[in-house]
Amino acid sequence: MTCDPVELAVEGVRGLAPYEPGKPIGELAREYGLDPGDIIKLASNENPLGSSPRALDAARDALDGVYRYPDGGATELRARLAERHGVEPTAITPGNGSNDVLDMIARTFLGPGRNAVFSRHAFAVYPIATRAAGAEARVADAHAAGHPDAPYGHDLDAMAACMDADTRVVFIANPNNPTGTRVARDPLAAFLEALPDHVIAVVDEAYAEYVQEADHPDASEWLERYPNLVVTRTFSKIHGLAGLRCGYAVSSPAIAELLNRVRHPFNVNSTALAAAAAALDDDAFVTESVAMNRKGLAQLEEGLRALGLAPIPSVANFVSVDIGRPGVEVFEALLARGVIVRPVAGYELPNHLRITVGTAFENRRVLEALGEVLAA
Ligand SMILES: *Cc1c(COP(=O)(O)O)cnc(C)c1O
Repeated sequence: MTCDPVELAVEGVRGLAPYEPGKPIGELAREYGLDPGDIIKLASNENPLGSSPRALDAARDALDGVYRYPDGGATELRARLAERHGVEPTAITPGNGSNDVLDMIARTFLGPGRNAVFSRHAFAVYPIATRAAGAEARVADAHAAGHPDAPYGHDLDAMAACMDADTRVVFIANPNNPTGTRVARDPLAAFLEALPDHVIAVVDEAYAEYVQEADHPDASEWLERYPNLVVTRTFSKIHGLAGLRCGYAVSSPAIAELLNRVRHPFNVNSTALAAAAAALDDDAFVTESVAMNRKGLAQLEEGLRALGLAPIPSVANFVSVDIGRPGVEVFEALLARGVIVRPVAGYELPNHLRITVGTAFENRRVLEALGEVLAA
């Protein structure tokens, strides 16, 4: 008897490539015989300051209780988030990372015969969630490389033009990963205003806390005006809790009630729930992270320009840059020097690398190593 499991998989999964995570430090240390302490990882948009100390204390305390199931309703965290966003707790959907919430949205609103729209060079989880749900992924052309504000960024007109009667979801990453581009308040509001009633707008704000520009929207303020809006946020980035996996959606209670139908029971573990709630109390950590990122981003952008490169102007905690040759080759040459960055060929940016903003020391090291590799 022969069995080809690929033939048995549903169509959407047959055509999928798995998400490619950043290379872990331990793996590089083993492969190249390097000391893990000498390796610099600027590949996954993690917080170079680590985690909020308050969050870590809460996580340690929560360990004593892990013989019990977590609070499946995430009562405390939802109450805290509701307060923060000025909504009812019933408007909050907790997720095992915000990826989990994106997947719930796809399983709730997508399926065969339906489609989701997102931009070229947008976050890789959108096509995965869409196709795994059996729906068509429609990729709208992004702004051109020479666009004055947002090269490679979302072109909202092109996204609107991709929609039809079968579109149920549009994903907007604001800011977007890996381009670091953003959509300002007025154009986003105009897009939502014109959105057909049968389309759910997902505004993914994973990096929103890093954006300092005065005209940047917090889309959760618009939930009453746009009942088809879902805003996602995460504790993985500025709060430095990527390893614990906690994110959430803010939406109308009606949408949250639907998402809750497909949410896995106990999807957020008790350690993550405790740490996330405590992280919300640590404004000082967030403020320090923002300040450090601003400096580090300027350091990286200046350093890249000094190497003769033209980074995509970023408002997030990473920057992508065209290095004029296959990104994978330079990525590998950097690995040999103990520096992990992210090639982004999978985002249709084959000659770009994405570099996370690190500490001043880490930024200097990646710039030095990149200078050596490009000169070789
Ligand atoms: C990192 C990231 C997320 C967050 O993922 P988590 O599952 O919350 O860790 C969401 N959206 C974008 C665009 C991201 O880059």
